[in-house]
Amino acid sequence: MSQEYDLLVIGGGSGGLAHAQRAAEYGVNAAVVEYGPLGGTCVNVGCVPKKVMWYASHYAHQLHHSADYGYDVTVAGHDWPALKARRDAYVERLNNIYSNNLDKRGVTYIAGTARFIDANAVVVGDVEYRATHIVVATGGQPIVPNIPGAEHGITSDGFFELQEQPKRVLIAGSGYIAVELAGIFAGLGSETRIIVRKEGVLRGFDKMLSSELTDTMQKNGVALDTGAVPAAVRRTDDGLVLTAEDGREFGPVDALVWAVGRSPNTATLDLDKAGVNMDERGFVPTDELQATNVENIHALGDVTGRAALTPVAIAAGRRLADRLYGGMEGRHLEYRLIPTVVFSHPTIGTVGMTEDEARAEYGDDVKVYTSGFTPMFYALGEDKQRAAMKLITAGAEESVVGCHVIGDGADEMMQGFAVAMRMGATKKDFDDTVAIHPTSAEEIVTMR
Ligand code: FAD
Ligand code: NDP
Repeated sequence: MSQEYDLLVIGGGSGGLAHAQRAAEYGVNAAVVEYGPLGGTCVNVGCVPKKVMWYASHYAHQLHHSADYGYDVTVAGHDWPALKARRDAYVERLNNIYSNNLDKRGVTYIAGTARFIDANAVVVGDVEYRATHIVVATGGQPIVPNIPGAEHGITSDGFFELQEQPKRVLIAGSGYIAVELAGIFAGLGSETRIIVRKEGVLRGFDKMLSSELTDTMQKNGVALDTGAVPAAVRRTDDGLVLTAEDGREFGPVDALVWAVGRSPNTATLDLDKAGVNMDERGFVPTDELQATNVENIHALGDVTGRAALTPVAIAAGRRLADRLYGGMEGRHLEYRLIPTVVFSHPTIGTVGMTEDEARAEYGDDVKVYTSGFTPMFYALGEDKQRAAMKLITAGAEESVVGCHVIGDGADEMMQGFAVAMRMGATKKDFDDTVAIHPTSAEEIVTMR
């Protein structure tokens, strides 16, 4: 016996839930298959618990500056297990909210692992589910390098399981997760070192961001070693030691964290039974309408290998439902000008092209405005942290094609600028906007 639905979504994470719920609002009989807790990566082992840890570290930073503002604060310590317990309870509350949201909209929740049987059917356990439309929203998982002893390390998933704060931490990797976890560990007092295999962190970002972040991280006690390609890991009496290909040794440390990217959850989906193509890394390629090569099967979110961010997965899922079931012909997500924040210390907010990308596309038609300063928060103390901004414009009209900010508050600053850029703002529009004083954000509208 098989059960029938209009829509079957595989994966109850950011994108899958958003799609199923929006479809159900249009009256579609939808079901979501999920083998883990509802909410997926973001809620359980991503954005949400990460931001809690970021707040904890940010709090330490504020405490460090309390004397500047006349407070006599003695910090007796930090209780990692207590923070973890509160964080886990918060995530559990969110899991329940997600479950209730499905109930409210009449979406069926199927707990288990889905595998394709054909283009219109999957099996979960020993039950077959058939559907007119199937959406693959299975996300991804952290990569562990294939080197001897790699299993001694943990990934971002393991970070959220840590019962105690490790005193000495080595992070291998150079992207979002490496710098975010480094800021958290260092802020909370762990001796922290990042090793990158090439010349620095956040290589795909504007160079200003990567160099400013490197300076501030190092000032805040994060050690950074470049050109270190992990070759082997061994456990010693005093902790883990990582050997690089060039023979350098790093450690001993209490925790080694792999932050070297994520791979898609497609290996056990049996996509071939449905005839769905994957690329060489296992991602499911889609066109701008989230369509795979099989007519009734769509894919969205991290599994498609494009802009692996929660709001991207959600937006793609909702727009797909609007198009398929809401009568909004042609509606789709535009994968340009996607704003993003790196929750490093300090934070980075960025939208649009890097300077290198803009010069490659527009050549000499590019004009760049920069600003570097110490935010007023640091005016009263000795320990100062810089902020830096860059606006990149193209053409005679000076359309703003890139906006990059590093510094306290960058995370909350970028959303509004992203709206302006989508609307085609020019440098003159920025100049003609009255500043808000005293803020760091005002620098963006006063650059010359
Ligand atoms: P997921 O949320 O991963 O959901 C996929 C779901 O599918 C999972 O729950 C999985 O269990 C399930 N699944 C997989 N295979 C099957 C199967 N065969 N059967 C049934 N279920 C299956 N993004 C941001 O925008 N901001 C941030 O601050 C941020 N921080 C992050 C921090 C970390 C440490 C990490 C790892 C990621 C972070 N991200 C952040 C990225 C964000 O979490 C992802 O982009 C987002 O979760 C992708 O959503 P998704 O729906 O594509 O996949
Ligand atoms: P990223 O893709 O951001 O960075 C991983 C980097 O690690 C690579 O770019 C590469 O950089 C380096 N690397 C790859 N393989 C190896 C290796 N074998 N040894 C050493 N270094 C290696 O991946 P993350 O895991 O940090 O994050 C995954 C994605 O999740 C992000 O891209 C982002 O989309 C999302 N995310 C978003 C967040 C946010 O919105 N704030 C936070 C966290 C994650 P190089 O080539 O320079 O060596």
